[in-house]
Amino acid sequence: MSSAAEHPGRGRSIALRLTLFYALFFGIVTSGGGILLYHLVRSHIIEEIDQDLLRQQQEIAHIIASGDIRALAAELASTANEGGSSDYFARILAADGRVELGSDLRAWRVALPGIPLGGLRPGELVYADVALPDARRQARVLTGATESGRVVQVGLSLSDSMAFLRHFEHYGLLILFFMLSLGTLAGWALARKAMAGVESVTRAAERIADGHFSDRVKVAGEGSEIDHLVSTFNRMAEHVQNVMAEMRQVNDHIAHDLRSPLTRIRGLAESAAIHAAPGSDGAELAGSIVEECDRLAQMINTMLEIAEAEAGVQRLALAPVRADELVRQAVDLFAGMAEDRGIALSCSIASPERLNGDRRRLQRALANLIDNALKYTPDGGRVEVSLSRNGDRVEIAVRDSGPGIPPEELPNLFDRFYRGDRSRHLPGNGLGLSLARAVAHAHGGDIRVESGIGAGSTFTLSLPAPAG
Ligand code: ADP
Repeated sequence: MSSAAEHPGRGRSIALRLTLFYALFFGIVTSGGGILLYHLVRSHIIEEIDQDLLRQQQEIAHIIASGDIRALAAELASTANEGGSSDYFARILAADGRVELGSDLRAWRVALPGIPLGGLRPGELVYADVALPDARRQARVLTGATESGRVVQVGLSLSDSMAFLRHFEHYGLLILFFMLSLGTLAGWALARKAMAGVESVTRAAERIADGHFSDRVKVAGEGSEIDHLVSTFNRMAEHVQNVMAEMRQVNDHIAHDLRSPLTRIRGLAESAAIHAAPGSDGAELAGSIVEECDRLAQMINTMLEIAEAEAGVQRLALAPVRADELVRQAVDLFAGMAEDRGIALSCSIASPERLNGDRRRLQRALANLIDNALKYTPDGGRVEVSLSRNGDRVEIAVRDSGPGIPPEELPNLFDRFYRGDRSRHLPGNGLGLSLARAVAHAHGGDIRVESGIGAGSTFTLSLPAPAG
């Protein structure tokens, strides 16, 4: 039976949260590692460039110190080609800032950074990053003063290094994306695996809550916490099943034992009614006792019938049954009652299905559903009984235009003696749906209900279609 069972917190399921956690964890670790690696690589490159610049600067300073200006000019010419190199430059400035000698700077097209020449002490070195007019390019420039007061400035373009770092960023982002996807997938798979055990316990608990007390969960045998939960759950289910069986047995015994005294009381009341003066108080009282005894006997018989049906398939008188005939006969049986109340009772048969079942019990179950539909639908309403096939199930649905059932009543509807608050003024004993469900279960089927206040109710008897 599937009532409007609620699943609190399913939207924020643990599996989803674990998946998000893994994805976040992988994302943070990967981007943290990536950023750290990027900075390490970048500072390593700058360090290499700085050392290169320092070597060049020292070489030039050395030549200046030796006073060999021609060698210096040759050195500059060798490091920067004719027409200017865009990779490297060097120049020598006098103490007043005038350029004394320098490599061809045409390719650089840059105003080199202002150097506080006055403030530079001999031997002091200043590194600076310079943006070139071509916005994407940068240069690293080293400025140093020699003992003679001259300033030697060497620079190296960073465009190759920057291109390398851009590649690094590009691939880094790709790897981050890959790791995030991997983290999400791995997280999802791990969370699903971890939660599979919990889900099977939940499913079994739901089935037990629906009345399938013999359901158990398979123990995986891994000795995990889930295994422990499963075996504890199974023990609990076993206990509940035993208690329920004992309670039922006691109920059945009581019902059984009540039959004989009740028959005797009825017999006595009947003979009192016969012997009392017609129309006297005694005759009326005896008549009422007979009526009450009949009601009680009917209730006891229904209880015993439920007990029989709950004992399972072995007690059924199974035979091929034509479901369309079953439905037509049941509708015919109630046609008169429906007409009296001005209720349009109709029957719709999609296909003439066959069943393997206990005809008498199935008739009884269907009659209970139609009886309820008529009982709870106000005069002038509609009741439709339909037969259809749904996969491997034959389904008989009884739909009414009645007042509907409040959602909070749905979980208890099939319990023995349960009667809805709003139905107490109508005749009944709260056993009709219990019997219908017990019959459905004995046949390997079930009953489900869809209902809402003001929307009518549909009770669907779903039975397995015979194989072949
Ligand atoms: P009874 O009809 O004797 O009270 P049942 O076991 O047949 O007992 O039904 C249990 C309760 O389910 C009813 O008391 C009623 O509240 C509710 N019910 C059953 N069928 C319908 C229906 N078709 N429309 C509205 N309520 C229904």
